[in-house]
Amino acid sequence: MSTDSSYETTIIGGGIVGICCGLALVEAGMRVLLIDKNDPGQGASYGNAGVISPWSIVPQSVPGLWQKIPKWLLKSDGPIAIKPSYLFELAPWAIRFLLQGRIERVHQISDAMAVLNDNNIGRYRQLLKGSGEEDLIRDSFYVHAFRQPKQANLDSLEYSIRRNKNADLELIDQQELQALEPALSDQFKAAILIKGQARALSPGKLGQVLAKKFLCNGGVFLRSKVKQLQSRHDGRWNLVTDDKTIESGQIIVSAGAWSRDLLKPLDIEVPLEAERGYHLSFSNPGIELTHSVMDMDLKIVASSMQEGLRAAGTAEFAGLDTPANSKRLKSLQNCVKSMLPSLNTASASDWMGARPSTPDSLPCIGEVPAHASLFTAFGHGHYGLMMAPRTGEIIADLVTGKPANIDLEPYNLARFS
Ligand SMILES: Cc1cc2nc3c(=O)[nH]c(=O)nc-3n(C[C@H](O)[C@H](O)[C@H](O)COP(=O)(O)OP(=O)(O)OC[C@H]3O[C@@H](n4cnc5c(N)ncnc54)[C@H](O)[C@@H]3O)c2cc1C
Repeated sequence: MSTDSSYETTIIGGGIVGICCGLALVEAGMRVLLIDKNDPGQGASYGNAGVISPWSIVPQSVPGLWQKIPKWLLKSDGPIAIKPSYLFELAPWAIRFLLQGRIERVHQISDAMAVLNDNNIGRYRQLLKGSGEEDLIRDSFYVHAFRQPKQANLDSLEYSIRRNKNADLELIDQQELQALEPALSDQFKAAILIKGQARALSPGKLGQVLAKKFLCNGGVFLRSKVKQLQSRHDGRWNLVTDDKTIESGQIIVSAGAWSRDLLKPLDIEVPLEAERGYHLSFSNPGIELTHSVMDMDLKIVASSMQEGLRAAGTAEFAGLDTPANSKRLKSLQNCVKSMLPSLNTASASDWMGARPSTPDSLPCIGEVPAHASLFTAFGHGHYGLMMAPRTGEIIADLVTGKPANIDLEPYNLARFS
C-alpha cells in the first residue's frame, strides 16, 4: 500500500502519557509523530485531580474491598456506580480486579507502582525547566480527611505500606485540620497528612506546555483519528487514519481508555476498562485550599487550581461511549458541598473523563509479545498524571534499545494471558 508520510516512531494518543513518551523520544534523538483525534493534553489528562505523589503506591483492589462495594453501590452518592446494563460486560474485569486484592499481590503491585512514581515531582520539574511555567507544579501535602477519627489509622494497610517505604505521614486532630484547611467542614474529625507531594495547578495546561516543548524539540503533531494498525511485510507498520495512511518504524499505543479497541483487531486482548470520573470546577469558589484534600468517605479530591476550585472523583463503569450521567454530577455537587460548606457553587462547570484501568492498577508498558516494534504505554488508571514522566523514559529506553535497568515484568501485557 502506498503511504502519505513516513516516521521513525509514531505515538497514538496525546494525553499526558503520550506527551511524556514523545518528549523522552525526541530527547533520545528520534523523529517522532504524535497523533491525537483531539488537541494534546485532553482526555483523562485534562480533568484529573492534579495529585502528583511518590506515595500513591496502594493499588485500588485491596483485601476486604469486596465487602464494601455492595454498600457503596446502593448509595446514590457512593464512590462507585455501575450502569445496570453494563454489569454483564464488566463482570470478567471485576472478578480479575477483586482477585488482585490478596495481601501478597498488593505488596508486589505496590513495589511496581513505586518504581513508576519514583521522583515524579523532580521529573516534572525537569520537564518544565525553561518553559516559563515552572509554577504549574506546587509542593503540597495530600490531606486524607476522615469523619470517623478511628478510621484515621496509621497502622492500617494503606498507610503502613507507605510508611514501610519511608513516606513522611502525620496524624492530626480536628483542631489541627481546621487550622491547616479552614474551608473544610467541621464534620472531619481527623486527618492523615502525606507529606512530600505536589499538585498540578492546571493538569490541562501542563499537558499543553509539555506538548509545546515536544514540538519545539522537533516532534510533529497530527490531529487525526487512528482507525486501524496494519503490520507490513518489511517489519514496519501502517497507521490508517481518518484521511491518510502513515508508515512508521515503531508504534507506541498510548491512547488511554481507547487503547483496547485499537489493539483488538490485531487479536491482542487487554482487560482495560474505562473507569469514568467526573469533576466540577468552581471559577469563583470564595474559598481556597492549600493542599490536595481527599474526603475519605466519599473518595473525592478537592484542590485549588488556576481555573478555580476543582473537586474530582467517582468511579463509574458504563463503557466508553455512554454520555455523562447527570445524577453522578448532582451527587458530586452534594458531596462537595458537604465537604466544603462555604463553597460558592454558583459558577460550576463539569467534565467527565475515562481512566484507563487494568485489574491490577498497573499500566501496560513494553513491547507487545509476538508483535515486534509495537509498544504499549497505557492503563495507568488513577495514577497516569504522576506516572507519565517515568513511563516516557522507559518507553524511550525500550524503543532505542537501551537497558531500562528495572524489572519490566510487572507491566508486561502478557501477564493477562
Ligand atoms: C476524575 C479523575 C481524577 C484523576 N486524578 C488523578 C490524579 O490526581 N493524579 C493522577 O496521577 N492521575 C489522576 N487520574 C488519572 C489520570 O488522569 C489518567 O491516568 C491519565 O490522564 C491517563 O493518561 P493517558 O495519556 O493514558 O490517557 P488520556 O489522557 O485519556 O489520553 C488518551 C488520548 O488518546 C487519544 N485517542 C484515543 N483513541 C485515539 C485514536 N484512535 N486516534 C487518535 N487519538 C486517540 C484521546 O483523544 C486522548 O487524548 C484521574 C482521572 C480521573 C478521571
